[in-house]
Amino acid sequence: MNTPAALPTVILKPREADRIVAGHPWIYAGAIMFVAPGVADGDVVEVRDHRKHWLGIGLYNSKSKITVRLLTPEHVTVDQAFFATRIRTALAVRQRHLPGATSFRVVNAEGDFLSGLIVDKYDDVLVVQTSALSMDLRKPMILGALKTLFNPRAIVERNEMAARKFEGLPEANGLLEGELDGPVTVNLNGLKFETDLRAGHKTGLYLDQQANYQRTAELIALTPGAHVLDCFSFLGGFALHAARAGAARVHGLDQSADAITAATRNAATNQLADKCTFEAANVFDWLKAQTAVGPHEKVIPKFDAIVLDPPSFTRNRASVPDALRGYKEIHLRALKLLKPGGLLATFCCSHHVDSVTFQNVILSAAFDTRRVLRRVTTFTQSPDHPCIPCIPETEYLKGYAFEVVR
Ligand code: SAH
Repeated sequence: MNTPAALPTVILKPREADRIVAGHPWIYAGAIMFVAPGVADGDVVEVRDHRKHWLGIGLYNSKSKITVRLLTPEHVTVDQAFFATRIRTALAVRQRHLPGATSFRVVNAEGDFLSGLIVDKYDDVLVVQTSALSMDLRKPMILGALKTLFNPRAIVERNEMAARKFEGLPEANGLLEGELDGPVTVNLNGLKFETDLRAGHKTGLYLDQQANYQRTAELIALTPGAHVLDCFSFLGGFALHAARAGAARVHGLDQSADAITAATRNAATNQLADKCTFEAANVFDWLKAQTAVGPHEKVIPKFDAIVLDPPSFTRNRASVPDALRGYKEIHLRALKLLKPGGLLATFCCSHHVDSVTFQNVILSAAFDTRRVLRRVTTFTQSPDHPCIPCIPETEYLKGYAFEVVR
């Protein structure tokens, strides 16, 4: 790569450089001592510590709380070739850890050292999100790199997320390249899922569960002919994997009628319709009704395996106590419905609830229902959503599989 021309400088305050040296890319306004005059939002800047020692190259936006997003500690030109190299490196991580997968997250922002950029690959269609102004301005370079690397049938933009307004960006959604009419059929672990990439949840599917679908299905397969409940089933990710792995009956619950229709169609497409039923229901209400008993009656456990994969119950730290009450409630009721020896696969996608706190909620529900659990697996996000421990924000999905000892 060629050496760049002189760049405008941003100088950090004393003691603000360590986090950057450790690998975290975010520089807040409060960490900055000096910005060269004339720097425009979206510009490439060089970042130095208070002694003017070099830290790296970053992208500047005065409108964002994250004033500079560091891109690299090296002296490079930020051009299409730079993005192509970064994306190729990210792709190699997927090829190593998800061999054979055709749909996965190619770039996961900070997890791939491209803060503000997400790229998902759904077989031959790419979906792009740019949540930072500096990435949004570089869309032409990024699309150029993506076209060279993937030669996709279409590239879709899903930029309707709230984060954009903190960058001074409008919401946007549409086709950036190629042609795409109607839903696409995506292959995950050999199962087919129909999804609308221009309107579905996230960018279409919960790709972060790809590895966990497989592992959960393996555990369910240990009980041939299992009766399975998939709570918060969306398009049937866990349900269809369980049915294929040998479950006799799988029931999926989701409050979205559209998701239920799509999941039912997906079951048919995969020749699993005879084993799968899906019902539009609020999981809290459904579990409550199933576990309601008279004063001297006991709940009759019905299921060999239950999956709990709710949406994040909290977007911020302040609402964590409410979220924990929600998590406890669904675990209490699910544990009552699980047969002895049964499997509970449970997930939490809130960054603000850590894995220890999450397990404590489950244990408290187990105590209240007088159940003893054996932990058989811990889950994290699939490897196409890399965890970079020096960037804590990259870790959000955690989960456990427990067997009911008694
Ligand atoms: N397990 C799914 C992803 C679940 S995402 C998969 O692997 O693809 C969370 C889902 O929960 C969404 O589909 C949403 O419609 C649904 N949902 C949110 N709150 C709900 C509630 N109270 N009851 C039922 N479904 C709910």
